[in-house]
Amino acid sequence: MSLDHPSALNDLSAFWMPFTSNRQFKSNPRMLVAADGMYYTTSDGRQVLDGTAGLWCCNAGHKRPRIVEAIKAQADEMDYAPAFQMGHPKAFELATRLRDMAPAGMDHVFFTNSGSESVETALKIAIAYQRAKGQGTRTRLIGRERGYHGVNFGGISVGGIVNNRRHFGALLTGVDHMPHTHLPENAFTKGQPEHGAWLADDLERIVALHGPETIAAVIVEPVAGSTGVLIPPKGYLERLREITRKHGILLIFDEVITGFGRLGAPFGADYFGVQPDLMCTAKGLTNGTIPMGAVLASSDVHNAFMNGPEHLIELFHGYTYSGNPIAAATGLATLETYREEGLFDRAAEIAPYWEEGLHSLRGLPHVIDIRNLGLIGAVELEPIAGQPTARAFQAFLDCYEKGVMIRTTGDIIAMSPPLIIEKSQIDHLFGTLADVLKTLA
Ligand code: PMP
Repeated sequence: MSLDHPSALNDLSAFWMPFTSNRQFKSNPRMLVAADGMYYTTSDGRQVLDGTAGLWCCNAGHKRPRIVEAIKAQADEMDYAPAFQMGHPKAFELATRLRDMAPAGMDHVFFTNSGSESVETALKIAIAYQRAKGQGTRTRLIGRERGYHGVNFGGISVGGIVNNRRHFGALLTGVDHMPHTHLPENAFTKGQPEHGAWLADDLERIVALHGPETIAAVIVEPVAGSTGVLIPPKGYLERLREITRKHGILLIFDEVITGFGRLGAPFGADYFGVQPDLMCTAKGLTNGTIPMGAVLASSDVHNAFMNGPEHLIELFHGYTYSGNPIAAATGLATLETYREEGLFDRAAEIAPYWEEGLHSLRGLPHVIDIRNLGLIGAVELEPIAGQPTARAFQAFLDCYEKGVMIRTTGDIIAMSPPLIIEKSQIDHLFGTLADVLKTLA
């Protein structure tokens, strides 16, 4: 069939959709055709309030003029340039801008094309770093139950979502998982829970089991997003930092969701005041518009390569599109939009209103927990026996019909709006969700 064949637009059979029940979708397609500010437009002409910033990525909202212009201008000037043994100015400029907004000491930037690639890159850098320091026995990696670190083999190995792991064979060896931080006694906590810092001590158990000389790195999301928004208990990340430092283990923060203002600070590391050795970013780096990710590395990590043995000076890793000119131009325009509009501060200012609105859903049918931090919120529903995702998914479908976009994972509803959201739109989001919850079977 030629591309201009009139039936091509209505043919849904060719696209194998990611993380989607394809048969179910294709019998009831939800097609988005335009986006502007806080709203999507559907193919049947309805406006849908974006309660999720796309997939946690459009932090400045949609179709922002500065970003649109930057993409057009860069496409017009230079479409592509290799990043191996050559460079172009915008990638260097973006790296500098990123360094300047990152926590002090996170001084070096390695570009990727996605969150998953940032994770793979950080894990590989961690192992190569230990080797460059003469500690080649440190190859083990430690993740967490219910962690989400993208979909590539390293990421699903350290990740802790059963469905994402169990279909794909043996995965990486030499991986351990710490427990997740979700405790029932913390239900309905506003912000960071009181209980559970001690869960970080599980790392000592793993260190005792294998010996510190075998462990390269620990990777965690400062706030676990894709498994239903698990907020770290007070003191937990600090404790992880203490233990990793004591044993010479690198600490990797996967900031793919928590980066770029989601918590009302540039990064989760800033918000929690805990300094990692490596940070994985993507999504909000380009406002979700052009695929791009970046790994930020501390000077210590970077210098191990620069000052290491001659054969290790080059990191034997990189992507055809690392620092792609159009992506870099988009990143620059995105960071400028965040700065110019003070969006990270705005997120911090509106977060208490968000928190109050979200927690007003307490007491509605099926609601068994509510969690929030910054402009992230989750409502956990009591699962229907034998159908652990059905209730929240129905809420998603009903909200979509009523013109509001939410996200679900298991029976948890997750929300993370663009940082430009207005109070009236927060009211509309939670008002619609409340109406839906009241009528849910
Ligand atoms: N890490 C985290 C914490 C994420 O939330 C995600 C995406 N939701 C990823 C990695 C993977 O990012 P991508 O889908 O861009 O590969």
